[in-house]
Amino acid sequence: MTAASNNPVNAVRTVTVVGGGVAGMSAACALAEAGMRVQLVERRGYLGGRASSYLHPGVSEVIDNCQHVLFGCCTNLIGFYRRIGVSDRIHWTNEMTMIEPGGRRSLLGPSWLPAPLHGLPKLIVAHSFTLADKLALGRAFSALIRPVPHDSAESLGAWLARNGQTKGALDRFWRLVIASALNADIDVIALPYAAKVIRELFMNSAQAGSMGMSTLPLSELYAGAGTFLAQHDSRVLFNANVESAEWNEKNAQWTLVTHTGNVTSDFLVLALPFEAMAKLLPHLPDAAGTEMLARQIEHHEHWPICSVHLWFDREITSLDHAVLLDREIHWMYNKSRLQPWRKLKGSYVELVISASRAFAAMTREQAIALAVSELAEFFPEVASAKLEKAALVKEVRATFGVPPGVDAARPNAVSPWPNCFLAGDWTATGWPSTMEGAARSGHLAAEALCQIAGAPRSFLNADLKPRGLMQFLRAGN
Ligand SMILES: Cc1cc2nc3c(=O)[nH]c(=O)nc-3n(C[C@H](O)[C@H](O)[C@H](O)COP(=O)(O)OP(=O)(O)OC[C@H]3O[C@@H](n4cnc5c(N)ncnc54)[C@H](O)[C@@H]3O)c2cc1C
Repeated sequence: MTAASNNPVNAVRTVTVVGGGVAGMSAACALAEAGMRVQLVERRGYLGGRASSYLHPGVSEVIDNCQHVLFGCCTNLIGFYRRIGVSDRIHWTNEMTMIEPGGRRSLLGPSWLPAPLHGLPKLIVAHSFTLADKLALGRAFSALIRPVPHDSAESLGAWLARNGQTKGALDRFWRLVIASALNADIDVIALPYAAKVIRELFMNSAQAGSMGMSTLPLSELYAGAGTFLAQHDSRVLFNANVESAEWNEKNAQWTLVTHTGNVTSDFLVLALPFEAMAKLLPHLPDAAGTEMLARQIEHHEHWPICSVHLWFDREITSLDHAVLLDREIHWMYNKSRLQPWRKLKGSYVELVISASRAFAAMTREQAIALAVSELAEFFPEVASAKLEKAALVKEVRATFGVPPGVDAARPNAVSPWPNCFLAGDWTATGWPSTMEGAARSGHLAAEALCQIAGAPRSFLNADLKPRGLMQFLRAGN
């Protein structure tokens, strides 16, 4: 179907964006800034989607559904934060502490050397890796400077096996850091996605690899989008689950049915996760291309992420965050240090367990007991501290996987319906399931919409340029 508008050119265009996650918020705010009147329709009572916070009834604390991190290379997410005025709410760091059971620490991070060598001095002296591990990692990084074909059918696991990685490099770097960034087993991660993460986080520049964490609970951070929309003659409709949508050819308008009433607009952006899109699909108009979209959605698979939230009567570490080696728990975030406004008497730490279906299958008691006993192996203070309360959050549908061939199942922003556009982290962004992928998809949908509306605008934020030697090594790639 082709898109159309019966509105006079100068009339204010109305847009409904369905889904108040990062994809929907970034599309809505970009379009509102461009002068459109936007209604952001969200089924829950708060913004953020899979990146949100809420008052946990069991512990009476506002917690994130999980710690979310971003990196300097997330230019669209950062652009969105700037647009809504919350970019100063991100705490940035360049250092990553790896801790072995028993407590021995290694610090990774940049040095004065130019990219891609900036991380080398700290890696050379890191205790976490043997000399053989370091040589294997060096070989793999050098090989990944060369371009990997976008359509490569090879998995990261197969590529690592071909490139002689040691057990230490596999367990402590590829499985822990990279597979956890992509939230899947190395055998089902497409090589181009892994190569992208390696280059952005470790090779292109120190700035691209710096890590950011919100100093506010996520839904408070994203409430900035609601304020921005209100300031731009737009609004958020909360607690409105979209059940179906109809296209009126005569008026060139969409009408959405929600259980709290109907919503009408000239344009529609569907910024839903793939499973919600699959649910809505039978309730959208028939159009050429819907079967293809349904087949693409069927290809996607969810991966879980769990987080264990622990409140102790005292500080158990002065580190802000750490990578925990060789155990079920992967990442430690010291929330009382990252969010000092909590003014806790003791301390609050969050442990994140990525891509582990085994951990996700544990009961609350098992998961918390395992997490606390493992944490004590890294921080001896845990043994003498009193655990005051604890919460386990299992997000079984946290992310979608990026297996070889996944790009064929990622539609672009143009949908089968007129004046309707697709966004969401699973659409074609070239990024894995991340807030950056979601923000990119929102900006891409907003661009496609403005193009069809006859008022082309550019919203996509440019990628950071590789620095140092990387700008020459990557030239032409
Ligand atoms: C536990 C966990 C940890 C993660 N860690 C990180 C991390 O560290 N860094 C990172 O970058 N990413 C991380 N991610 C991934 C990141 O959260 C997602 O990729 C991103 O937030 C997806 O945004 P989205 O807008 O595409 O989808 P969503 O966030 O899923 O937003 C979709 C919205 O649509 C709403 N909705 C659904 N159906 C309807 C309907 N019918 N009507 C109205 N509204 C509807 C939903 O309520 C939701 O708010 C993590 C995800 C999870 C769950």
